[in-house]
Amino acid sequence: MSDPVSLLQELIRCPSVTPEDAGAQAVLKARLKKLGFEITDLPYGEGEDRILNFFARYGTGHPHFCFAGHTDVVPAGKSSWDNDPFSADIIDDVIYGRGACDMKGGIAAFVSAVEDFLSKKNNFTGSLSFLITGDEEGPGINGTVKVLEWMQAHNHIPDFCLVGEPTSAQTLGDVIKIGRRGSLNAVIEVEGTQGHVAYPHLADNPIHKLMTILTSLTQPVLDNGNEWFQPSSVQVTSIDVGNVVTNLIPATATARVNIRFNNLHTGTALKGWIATQCHRVAEHCKIDIAVSGEAFLTEPGKEVRALCEAIYSVNEVKPRLDTGGGTSDARFISQYCAVAEFGLVGQTMHKVNEAVSIHDLKQLSTIYLNVIDALFE
Ligand SMILES: [Zn+2]
Repeated sequence: MSDPVSLLQELIRCPSVTPEDAGAQAVLKARLKKLGFEITDLPYGEGEDRILNFFARYGTGHPHFCFAGHTDVVPAGKSSWDNDPFSADIIDDVIYGRGACDMKGGIAAFVSAVEDFLSKKNNFTGSLSFLITGDEEGPGINGTVKVLEWMQAHNHIPDFCLVGEPTSAQTLGDVIKIGRRGSLNAVIEVEGTQGHVAYPHLADNPIHKLMTILTSLTQPVLDNGNEWFQPSSVQVTSIDVGNVVTNLIPATATARVNIRFNNLHTGTALKGWIATQCHRVAEHCKIDIAVSGEAFLTEPGKEVRALCEAIYSVNEVKPRLDTGGGTSDARFISQYCAVAEFGLVGQTMHKVNEAVSIHDLKQLSTIYLNVIDALFE
């Protein structure tokens, strides 16, 4: 049996805080090369923004099953750790270090599973691949997005992609993510005419108009959710006037609004809806909208079913299929193929003393191996 523990320790000992790589990807590439993977280095960006990424594929046929992960980590942070965050110390069967669960542990578990799979599999006709980026925790510009464009151009888009983010909540296997909500931020600025509060007929109060707009955005029910998503939600996050006196009608009033939306909406449609609501009340208001991600969903198919069965067979946990939480690179991958996210328990991610138990790490590797076995049966 291949052992994910020593590989994880080796990865943690490379302090690959975005945008640094610190040798982490070389460790992986050496392991994959030994197995016969064909590796393409895909660095993007110039100077300080330069990011290392690579794509590795074994086999040329179908099904093509891809594992996506990031080798970069967030900084150790200002609070002090009990041990050096990049020493990968093992204490009472727990491995400590930055990236242990997010997500060098997931990567080590999958590499180890692939080593076991290929050591016993003859006449393999499918494809296994790795999409590895060093830009997930950073701006996400020179990472997965560009690697996917390259994969598309070179005929490497897989049939299914598993992202090894730490999706488990309390126990290994309790949550698989099969989609995420979209997110949109709007800044709405209403212009009025400044004046004295005692002479309102000589002024035009922008706050009153802004209140009407915000009511028209927050009162309607956008949807009631569906089987996989909770209802979309409009939240006003700030209303700013900056008025420090009591006798002035201000010239402008600004509000910020966030919408977390499910797959019944698109960012573009919501943008149009917001503009219509605003212009109905204030013809000349300024609207600035940024869509940071569209909603996506992978309807559970044979891969997600295989994942559920693999989890249950290893630790008797029945996973919940979930679409909550923040964003990950899965939002980019979903534009090319079916994608799901599954990995370790995320409770210590980004925290001081980030850690993973050897027990969980080995179980995850066995779950991944069972999934690979099932998909290439
Ligand atoms: Zn992560």
